[in-house]
Amino acid sequence: FAPWDDPQAKPLIQFRNVTKRFGQFTAIDDLSIDIFEREFFALLGPSGCGKTTMMRMLAGFETPTEGVILLSGQDIDPIPPNKRAVNMMFQSYALFPHLSVWENIAFGLKRAKMPKQDLKERVEEMLRLTRLEQFAHRKPHQISGGQRQRVALARSLAKAPKLLLLDEPLGALDKKLRQDTQFELMDIQEKTGTTFVIVTHDQEEAMTVASRVAVMDHGRIVQADTPAKIYETPNSVYVADFIGDVNIIEGRATPNDGETYRIDWAEGQEPLTATSAHPFEKGQACHFAIRPEKVTISSERPADAANAVQGKVHDIAYLGNLSTYHVELANGTIMKAQSANTRRISRRSYTWEDPVWLSWTATAGVLLAD
Ligand code: ATP
Repeated sequence: FAPWDDPQAKPLIQFRNVTKRFGQFTAIDDLSIDIFEREFFALLGPSGCGKTTMMRMLAGFETPTEGVILLSGQDIDPIPPNKRAVNMMFQSYALFPHLSVWENIAFGLKRAKMPKQDLKERVEEMLRLTRLEQFAHRKPHQISGGQRQRVALARSLAKAPKLLLLDEPLGALDKKLRQDTQFELMDIQEKTGTTFVIVTHDQEEAMTVASRVAVMDHGRIVQADTPAKIYETPNSVYVADFIGDVNIIEGRATPNDGETYRIDWAEGQEPLTATSAHPFEKGQACHFAIRPEKVTISSERPADAANAVQGKVHDIAYLGNLSTYHVELANGTIMKAQSANTRRISRRSYTWEDPVWLSWTATAGVLLAD
């Protein structure tokens, strides 16, 4: 059992019907979520959806207008920020420029009056954990951006918080370094067993590092699930569209005999066939969502395809390892199909205006009600 599927598991953090208003404006809207020990929980959503506000309430910089937040079963409201077993790492890192790496990491421990020997051991442990031993005596300006990021992480983990909040922790790094650092972050999270809550604008980053991703919209969590579930079985058009690339077809679903639905969608187009985890009534409005990589492109209609539509190549995006084809159907709809460039591109590729078939199985996409 993953803890979120286990009714016996005790959450580390519980948001219970939390609302946060700034004047008339509702930033967090009756939000409830449990986050478990050792989770790496990512908050994802468009600008202004309330991610930072959730973090600031956990850190103690904001108080809920309504509802409660529990940490290990205790209401955190009366606990001042510096007394919470919670730490926050900011995108700017906020390192002290005049202190060495060692002193930066030791700073919070000194303030907490940790005995000298324990402090020394703890700082050394943090230096080892973040592979910074050889930089211990340098100042922040004498190390690289990636190393500074690790100092900030070491410093925020030094007091062994139960919960570490990371606001765009890798935002200052370039793409390649950022990808390497994601794995390092996962490794450190696993080694320390600390619960991490991360805010990021980068959905790939959230999908890479997180045990669960929460997709937010206007102060609510619309879906919180493993990255694979969020991607494979989004619960709404909003989530399907927010994560990755997707084709959305609007239509009406009607149950066939057995497991499948018939989807009537456009004048002159054959109905589609799809399975669904949720029931639809006869003629119910639906959206069919399918990822481009689940759509096969071919020059002939595949004989056994459950779904096949005809069109012509409108645009091609060559991405190295794969290509995305934008195909225009007879009714003007553009559908995207993605195929892996496992062979030399010239062997199997299509070009502009080529007539092609797009096909997919009955289980390749999801039927959504909204
Ligand atoms: P971004 O990705 O841009 O950082 P976010 O999802 O983190 O956005 P928040 O910073 O949580 O969003 O803000 C949510 C909403 O609440 C925004 O519309 C913001 O303008 C508003 N808000 C946040 N803090 C305050 C405040 N102190 N006073 C008034 N409005 C606020």
